Amino acid sequence: MSEVVPPEDLSSAARLIKEHSGKVLAFTGAGVSAEAGIPTFRGKDGLWNRYRPEELATPRAFESNPKRVWEWYKWRMSIIARAEPTWAHKVMADWERKGVLMGVVTQNVDGLHQRAGSRLVIELHGSIWRTRCTVCGRRFDLGFGNIPEEDLPRCRECGGLLRPDVVWFEEPVPMDQFERAERLFSEAEVILIVGTSGVVMPAALLPINAARQGKILVEVNPEETNLSSLATIRLRGPAGEIFRELARLVEEDLSWR
Ligand code: NAD
Ligand code: ZN
Repeated sequence: MSEVVPPEDLSSAARLIKEHSGKVLAFTGAGVSAEAGIPTFRGKDGLWNRYRPEELATPRAFESNPKRVWEWYKWRMSIIARAEPTWAHKVMADWERKGVLMGVVTQNVDGLHQRAGSRLVIELHGSIWRTRCTVCGRRFDLGFGNIPEEDLPRCRECGGLLRPDVVWFEEPVPMDQFERAERLFSEAEVILIVGTSGVVMPAALLPINAARQGKILVEVNPEETNLSSLATIRLRGPAGEIFRELARLVEEDLSWR
């Protein structure tokens, strides 16, 4: 891997993480789960190369064809249910336990951060493992890996149609989650931006504003993104491999400093 990422970039990133220990925050997107076998939306092999988002992940799509939208979600759930957290998820959880990382703000809906042991996980776009009643608004936790059997799952309280409790295109991000994320960002000094294309708003405003406030951004992504120009260090490669290497460097005695 060090053939791809200059080793000095990896050690600079590791040094930053150590120096700002306790003030490091991770901001993640679909790419952090790509090595777990979960397709991303954009980028090479992204889901949208095969499906049209406006036909599946919008309130209008669900109104006109809920069965089709549920089918797509159940297909995605079946992929996620088989997935294991990657090194990136695991290292983030470990760093949180050790007081290095404050927590994770994620755009993902897969639940892999929690599965890896992360405790402070802000889910800006909801969770695929939770449903919400379209009539009474009640939320139901399914638990990781539990896929509804019915074609059209119904609310056990009022019989209303259930939908995945995720944020679709054209829908607002839950205000409480966004505000919690903003607070964490304001306390952080170093932001690790991992596996996100940085085009989904308002989520992308969090790192954009952080950069404006002079915070240090480290990007982990095999491809150039919307946020690349804001990052002090860009680690080009798969998140799992990069985090495995970073974990080793952060653990090492910093005598080489
Ligand atoms: P995105 O699909 O727009 O972008 C994915 C990014 O990941 C790209 O920049 C790509 O270069 C990068 N990437 C690909 N493989 C990688 C790897 N191995 N390591 C690091 N980076 C890698 O994703 P987004 O920015 O999160 O925005 C899309 C929306 O899609 C989000 O709102 C999210 O809710 C949803 N989504 C979630 C999941 C999930 O929960 N796993 C999966 C697909 C989409
Ligand atoms: Zn209901």
